[in-house]
Amino acid sequence: MGSDPAEVAKMVTVGDGFYVRQAVDNIAWIDLGEYAVVVDALEQPELEEEILDAIRSTLGDKPVRYLLNTHTHGDHTALNAAFQRRGTEIVNQRTSPIDSEGRWFEGARRRVLMLPLGGSHTSEDCVVWVPEDKALFAGDIFGWGLIPVGNLRLTNAKLVNDIYARMIEFDASVVIPGHGPLCTTGELRRWVEYFAWLREQIAKGCAEGKSDRKIRRMLPPPEDMKTWWRFELWKHEDSVGKVIRAVRSGQLNG
Ligand SMILES: [Zn+2]
Repeated sequence: MGSDPAEVAKMVTVGDGFYVRQAVDNIAWIDLGEYAVVVDALEQPELEEEILDAIRSTLGDKPVRYLLNTHTHGDHTALNAAFQRRGTEIVNQRTSPIDSEGRWFEGARRRVLMLPLGGSHTSEDCVVWVPEDKALFAGDIFGWGLIPVGNLRLTNAKLVNDIYARMIEFDASVVIPGHGPLCTTGELRRWVEYFAWLREQIAKGCAEGKSDRKIRRMLPPPEDMKTWWRFELWKHEDSVGKVIRAVRSGQLNG
């Protein structure tokens, strides 16, 4: 076992003037030319000075005009107030609802699209697309093996697949999840296969009258996903449990 890649914060340069501070909670800042935007705002308000210093040391005194929250859970919004005090406008589905076409933020250097893809992790989920760098912020829709809905049902399982199809369509080279290491469109595709495989295998196991324990034993973490962030540690087990509960309660039938 290697060490956890998110335990120590790491600065990742996605493009010129485009940085992600990769950790358990991710935050990014992007130079659009005349101004910068920040994506997501962490869980720990005490990181305010560190983040502002990091932005200043990479982008100088460029104003941060907008802070885009992929959704408004507390682990994505802790620094909202700190940025707001400095004149940044907070943009999320609560402060300034975005319609299904999305909202562009344009500058001389690049532009970014904030696009609502709600209904899986939360009803207000948005992704952020940076075409210049082929980079996509997935928020918590991609969780390194987690199923992004609480109570799994047939309707939201279908919605999750639709949402993944929309994300895959961007054909991003870099995918930035809300938490942990960055990845690529390949991992989004792999997760869709994994989700279908879990549903199929577990439906079969339940239909054959197998116990939960037996089903779990039949479904070890796939070899190629063992290196996924915290997947073998707990996420695979969590996903298997979620599908077993949904199948046993009849909520995935149809
Ligand atoms: Zn969340």
